[in-house]
Amino acid sequence: MKGKIIRSTGSWYSILDEARNRYDARLRGKFKNEGLKVTNPIAVGDNVVFNLDEDGIALITKIEARENYIIRKSTHKTGHGHLIASNIDQAIIIATIANPRTSLGFIDRFLVSSEAFRIPAILVFNKEDLLSEEDKEFREAIFDLYTSIGYTCMATSAQTEKGIAELKATLEGKITLLSGHSGVGKSSLVNKIDPRLDLKTTAVSGFSKKGVHTTTFAEMFQIADKSFIIDTPGIKELGMIDMEQGEIGHYFPEMRALVGACKFHNCLHVNEPGCVIKEKVQSEEISESRYYSYLGMLEEKDSHR
Ligand code: GDP
Ligand code: ZN
Repeated sequence: MKGKIIRSTGSWYSILDEARNRYDARLRGKFKNEGLKVTNPIAVGDNVVFNLDEDGIALITKIEARENYIIRKSTHKTGHGHLIASNIDQAIIIATIANPRTSLGFIDRFLVSSEAFRIPAILVFNKEDLLSEEDKEFREAIFDLYTSIGYTCMATSAQTEKGIAELKATLEGKITLLSGHSGVGKSSLVNKIDPRLDLKTTAVSGFSKKGVHTTTFAEMFQIADKSFIIDTPGIKELGMIDMEQGEIGHYFPEMRALVGACKFHNCLHVNEPGCVIKEKVQSEEISESRYYSYLGMLEEKDSHR
């Protein structure tokens, strides 16, 4: 029998088969993970082969090759990763201009990770109803910036339902990872899209302006016949896979387009002479905020070696 892992809580899994039957599942035997060093052998989104035992428990015998996956560093085993989800068609970052404001650095980090994992990314700005005129101008400027780089941007409000139909259409027939700081309205948006799910919403606490997350495991929800969303509670970032300093620029599409243009082939675009990227930042063809995000990530890599 074949199915998809929709939930993982350690040693127990939930499988959904094509006929929409759900099974509680366990692993049979040891699994090799394509040479991956991971603390968990199975991720939400994995397609698996299984048999049922006499108690109706599914025993997973095979994991199909993954089209992609996201992984983060394991917090308890050095040199190992923790698989979060696999076989993802697109990743949506839900951000807000107000209450709370999502930083551009955070957005850029998400985009770099999604480029590195080869998952198309979409930006959704929620709580449009709360924006002042000034906020709206700022939001427009951000849209112009990210649209020019090639990312799809959407404005939504779970309150007024602005953009909900458009968001729903974007999810159609796809497996979509939803990400964002808690408090941005992820659960509220999902509940608007499919009220049957009734995800728990958390009021943004007045003190920290950051909500408290209510669940800890990634979980996949079916919202239509062939549409799924993967909710990753508590996972703010997609996580960074190990990349060399020289690689980071490849995950900024506007920099990637200029590969080989600098004087030095291994230019990191910091202080090197003849750096075309720095020239483009000067002439505002590359956004300063994106460049600063790049430098921040470069510096972080530097301090880790
Ligand atoms: P999550 O942590 O991202 O899942 O956020 P929630 O869906 O729990 O929402 C956090 C808070 O923001 C709740 O108090 C929601 O009612 C509120 N909220 C969510 N979306 C909107 C929106 O579009 N407009 C306004 N005004 N409030 C919203
Ligand atoms: Zn350069």
